[in-house]
Amino acid sequence: MRLKGKVAMVTGSSRGIGNAVAKKYLEEGAKVVLIDRDEEGVKKSIEEMKQYGDAVGYAMDVTDRARVQEVFETVVKEHGTLDILVNNAGITQDAQLYKMKEEQWDAVINVNLKGVFNCAQEAVKIMRDKKTGSIINISSVVGLYGNFGQVNYAATKSGVIGMTKTMAKEVGRKNVTVNAVAPGFIMTEMTQKMPDNVLDMMREKAPLGRLGEPEDIANACLFLASDEARFVTGTVLSVDGGVVL
Ligand code: NDP
Repeated sequence: MRLKGKVAMVTGSSRGIGNAVAKKYLEEGAKVVLIDRDEEGVKKSIEEMKQYGDAVGYAMDVTDRARVQEVFETVVKEHGTLDILVNNAGITQDAQLYKMKEEQWDAVINVNLKGVFNCAQEAVKIMRDKKTGSIINISSVVGLYGNFGQVNYAATKSGVIGMTKTMAKEVGRKNVTVNAVAPGFIMTEMTQKMPDNVLDMMREKAPLGRLGEPEDIANACLFLASDEARFVTGTVLSVDGGVVL
């Protein structure tokens, strides 16, 4: 029970990596604030997750700044505080640069970068005051090394690394840690959209010979949220089976 007594928010917890992180945190004793885009989704997620522990939830689109502020205020009012934030919500809208539409660029920047800004800013306000907390931003190997057809996505995932390092410098004296996790290719709905031959190539390339499971990322997020990582900040933890070696 490494997170006993902590309140953790995980954005994009309805499926995939966010879902696995929420489950892991619940099993480790945290109260977990699940974030879904709509009320129906929230109800369904709470129902699914309550077998693992103390799950609560709110409808929130991370791009809706006013709603983000309202939800963070509600969390503090109803659950006393916020100790851990995992900025996980993310989307892809792939196209090569010469064909990419402005809407594809804007949509990905809005969710993956502005969404992190919106949530991290509210979390930092809470955590600075109480002089403790951890923020974990989900980046990607694509943010470190680039990827064909993902100029918008790569820009956001590199941007998240820049934000992580800057935030770590700004809030370190307040005893708040900020770290990024850079997953490799993980089996979720996001990667199901990718062609089979690309996924096979990634499997081949990885020294560990497989794609990742959402739980592989959840384990890294558990470490970074736990007291064992109290002297770790501003780092980017690659969890990728060695795919980029
Ligand atoms: P999924 O597509 O499976 O899940 C994404 C989650 O984000 C969903 O719960 C979705 O909610 C939510 N979400 C999307 N947009 C918003 C929004 N505007 N506001 C709130 N929630 C939103 O993705 P993964 O689990 O694969 O990815 C999770 C994170 O990990 C992302 O940041 C992704 O970029 C990153 N990542 C994933 C990798 C992979 O191989 N899968 C590799 C590297 C990084 P809804 O159900 O409403 O759509």
